[in-house]
Amino acid sequence: MRVGFDTETVVVGGGIAGFFALDRLRTAGHQVHLIGCPRPGMDQTQWSQGILHSGWKYHRGDPRPFPDLAETWQKMFEGNAEPELPREAIRTSNLLVWGDVDAGPALGPKVVDPPNCLGEHQVHHLQETIIDPGVVLNHLRQKHQPCCHHGLVKVARMAGGFEILTGTERILTKHLVLAAGAGNEALGMMLGRPPGFMQRRPLRMYLIRGTLPELYGHAMRSKDVALTVHTIPGNHKECTWVIGGALAEDAPELHADEAEHRLRNALMAFLPGGLPTGCWWSSYRIDRAERATTDGQRPDDVCVEMVDGVHYVWPTKLVLAPRAANTLLGMLPQPSHQTGQTHRSVWESLPKLGAAQDPVQDAELKWRPLT
Ligand SMILES: Cc1cc2nc3c(=O)[nH]c(=O)nc-3n(C[C@H](O)[C@H](O)[C@H](O)COP(=O)(O)OP(=O)(O)OC[C@H]3O[C@@H](n4cnc5c(N)ncnc54)[C@H](O)[C@@H]3O)c2cc1C
Repeated sequence: MRVGFDTETVVVGGGIAGFFALDRLRTAGHQVHLIGCPRPGMDQTQWSQGILHSGWKYHRGDPRPFPDLAETWQKMFEGNAEPELPREAIRTSNLLVWGDVDAGPALGPKVVDPPNCLGEHQVHHLQETIIDPGVVLNHLRQKHQPCCHHGLVKVARMAGGFEILTGTERILTKHLVLAAGAGNEALGMMLGRPPGFMQRRPLRMYLIRGTLPELYGHAMRSKDVALTVHTIPGNHKECTWVIGGALAEDAPELHADEAEHRLRNALMAFLPGGLPTGCWWSSYRIDRAERATTDGQRPDDVCVEMVDGVHYVWPTKLVLAPRAANTLLGMLPQPSHQTGQTHRSVWESLPKLGAAQDPVQDAELKWRPLT
């Protein structure tokens, strides 16, 4: 019979929240293991646009505060803050802003040679960084490899701690951190939490694939971000634009024909210079998962809360993941180092967590001709 716990803390979820939590806790001396399982439609981090928001998008005309963590990330890429992150994760540090642009002090100078596809729009630089989140996830996974495991987990309470069930394994932990994005809802309910504590804000993101120029930036309509575009480089001069913004937020539940109509209208308005022939388009549905708010809008900040002894983490935005991890660290008791009686090689029996995949390679995506 097993005596004691297999670890002090288990983090469930292999997205940005889970990996930053793992890194912060291990660096602070906690005995912690992460168990995650990529699941279609639930991997926000891998599908995210990777913008390290400087606050510009959220402060124009929006009175709700939004913490600016872009500088913290910059330090991590420069090796001046923990965790040190690889610079190759940076896709660009120079976005374009076009459409209804107020040339205010927050925006950089006018772009003299904008890409042809932007037509006659006035275009400005915006100093903001876009990262490839998959590179960051893979870096942290490699750094903590012995503690990163693959598994779809179920959870239950036990005396003084929690029981994690994954595959045929049963793992006992003193502390439980749920950083499973949209999965937190089901996991919380397994532990007796009444529903309604989490909200999902749906998106229909659009993709265009072809011999496109690299494009990163925001197309503006009045004060709204109508489109946010980032580029995923591909093979043979091909690349994929991923398009979010109001286009993705306003009508997520569309039939493919209606979606194509919306996309074409947006392209006419914001990319009037046209696209090369031979482009294909696709789209996908994904929910943003956050702590529920009274008005259903985006929470102003991270949410890290302890309810009935369980720690729940929703970073709200990818850029806020370091802040969520720091908050979590402050809420957990000091590491005790007395719980880890790993006499059974339970951790060795679990499969290792694999590398994050490029979501655009998702075989489920249906591509249709665009130009
Ligand atoms: C389309 C899109 C674009 C975005 N763009 C930006 C952006 O540009 N900038 C920004 O700052 N933020 C952005 N966000 C928000 C940001 O991506 C999220 O806030 C952040 O990635 C959430 O991370 P997470 O780790 O909490 O969740 P996730 O990334 O969803 O990770 C949770 C993981 O837990 C796993 N899991 C769930 N249940 C279980 C279980 N029972 N057992 C094991 N594993 C489980 C899931 O499969 C998943 O792998 C965007 C979000 C979306 C959807």
